Amino acid sequence: MIRRIQMLINGAWLDALSEDWTVIHNPATGDPVAEVPVGGREEARMALEAARRAFPDWASAPAEERANLLHRAADFMRGRLEEISRWLTLEQGKPIRDARKEIALAAQVFDYYAEEGKRIFGEWIPTGSPHIRSLVIRQPVGVAAVIAPWNYPVELLAWKIAPALAAGCTVVAKPASAAPIAATEMIRALHDAGLPPGTINLVLGPGRTVGAELVENPISRKIAFTGETETGRWIMEKAARSIKRVSLELGGQSPMIVCRDADLEKAVAAGVRRAFSNMGQICISVNRIYVAQEIADAFIARFVERTRSLRIGNGLDPEVELGPMFNEEVRRKTREHIADAVAKGAWVLCGGCEPEGEEFQRGYFFLPTVLAEVDHSMRVMCEETFGPVAPIMRFRTLDEAIALANDSPYGLAAYVFTRDLHTAFYIAERLEAGGVGVNINDVTELQAPFGGWKESGLGRELGRWGLESYLELKHIRIALDTPG
Ligand code: NDP
Repeated sequence: MIRRIQMLINGAWLDALSEDWTVIHNPATGDPVAEVPVGGREEARMALEAARRAFPDWASAPAEERANLLHRAADFMRGRLEEISRWLTLEQGKPIRDARKEIALAAQVFDYYAEEGKRIFGEWIPTGSPHIRSLVIRQPVGVAAVIAPWNYPVELLAWKIAPALAAGCTVVAKPASAAPIAATEMIRALHDAGLPPGTINLVLGPGRTVGAELVENPISRKIAFTGETETGRWIMEKAARSIKRVSLELGGQSPMIVCRDADLEKAVAAGVRRAFSNMGQICISVNRIYVAQEIADAFIARFVERTRSLRIGNGLDPEVELGPMFNEEVRRKTREHIADAVAKGAWVLCGGCEPEGEEFQRGYFFLPTVLAEVDHSMRVMCEETFGPVAPIMRFRTLDEAIALANDSPYGLAAYVFTRDLHTAFYIAERLEAGGVGVNINDVTELQAPFGGWKESGLGRELGRWGLESYLELKHIRIALDTPG
């Protein structure tokens, strides 16, 4: 019999009221991994009510006490790292080394916010009268509903749960229905660390019912969401009815500009890694590469060579660099984007299809794909593919590259490769993106804000900005009489 997981509501592990179960399958093999309860609106309501009851005590607990519990949970996660990472690879497909990194980073996020929560300072404000004092304090916003997707199911939940709890909010968490196992193990670490009942709750079930209840129910005062732009738009509309606080981390279509003076080897290595790791199923993936005409031939040749050398296979194999895609839906969309590009004149330089061989027959494998002769009429250059495709386009001037990079409704991440400081700043300051990587292929830094411009989102996670988004300001104005 395969493993069953449960929801956590008010400190108790529960099945769905309906007693319905769904089976999670390994995307590399199709084998069943675990059974998961299919909760509904009622379980979401129960969890919200538990969180509401737990809120006053948690909100008024000393920051030190909250910090100790969060550190303890982080220690439990590290102690169970191998087990949780294995679940993550089994349910999501990513290589085990990337799964380990994700769990370790999630634990680090809990440690970071444990300490950051001790620095929720107030302010003393100058006033217009010698008899008036003004203080500003920061207080937790209330019950936070946090909703995450399947591509980084543990880390993206940690980015929300850790600052929420550190701020004094109580939490109802909803992981993606199709990848809830490792996320459940993270919640178990919090539970085992001794968080009071109702402080952290976990609900499992479809977004359209469980997720919608978390958004629509007036108990939640803050929604933190990562997922598709369309879902984010819907959440924002619903949240508007009761003016809830929202943080939205949505889709991306990240450009990479490779200037003529770039370190070619570094740019190729960085581009290949960021275009294909997690099979391109990353919101800050390199989705479009613009390379200076003068070095384009050399860059493309090295890029294709390096792409061909990537080892693809079952993520549990420690040597594997690329696992399967997550499901047939994302693989089909990838195929469609490639077919659309080819129909409009693109060339497939490598990949473009499934790998051959017995070991790939049962999983959602797909070869990392490099496209040339692309332009902005193609879907792969303007929609989020969320698959392992790197389209490469040439440019002549920096202004042309910047205009192409900004020609998108998205604005999450962007990358520039150049050895010249002036060029780096010229481009970085003109790109419409929440994060710009200069000679680096990642814009994620624990202490720095992460989030998108334009349709890539609203608000910021990580750093002190991530914590602020779970806090309300309160002005306390005090009239003083003259003593005696
Ligand atoms: P979805 O938007 O489909 O789902 C994300 C989460 O929202 C899931 O838990 C889902 O539940 C839930 N959900 C779905 N509908 C609703 C609803 N009506 N109300 C409340 N919750 C709902 O995204 P995917 O899971 O497909 O994730 C991929 C997307 O995530 C990509 O677009 C990617 O760019 C984006 N992303 C953005 C990041 C960023 O930081 N900007 C980082 C990583 C990913 P269920 O699973 O049950 O459907």
